[in-house]
Amino acid sequence: MASEHVLSGVVCLRHPAVATGLRCARCGTPICPRCLVHAPVGARCPDCAKPTGGIATRPSLRLYAQSGAAGLVSAVVAGALFAFLPLGFLSSSLRC
Ligand SMILES: [Zn+2]
Ligand SMILES: [Zn+2]
Repeated sequence: MASEHVLSGVVCLRHPAVATGLRCARCGTPICPRCLVHAPVGARCPDCAKPTGGIATRPSLRLYAQSGAAGLVSAVVAGALFAFLPLGFLSSSLRC
C-alpha cells in the first residue's frame, strides 16, 4: 500500500520521502532531481557543486596565463603586419 517512497530502494539524502535513481557523479550520494546540480562533468549533489577554491583555481590560472600569452603573440604578429604593410605600399608607390 505505502510503497510509493521505496520504488527503487534509494532515497534522496535531503528528501528521505523522495525515491531517486540519480546519484552524484563525484561522491555517489543519492540525489533527487530537485537537489541535482548540473555541472560540466555531470550531475552533482549540492555539496559537491559548491566551489571549493582549492585545486580548481590552479588550471584556470594556467589557462588564463596561456590565453594571455596567446593574446600577446597575436598582438605582436598584428603589430608586425601593421608595421610592414604601409612600408610595402610606400615602396610600391615610390617606384611608379
Ligand atoms: Zn556529491
Ligand atoms: Zn532532494
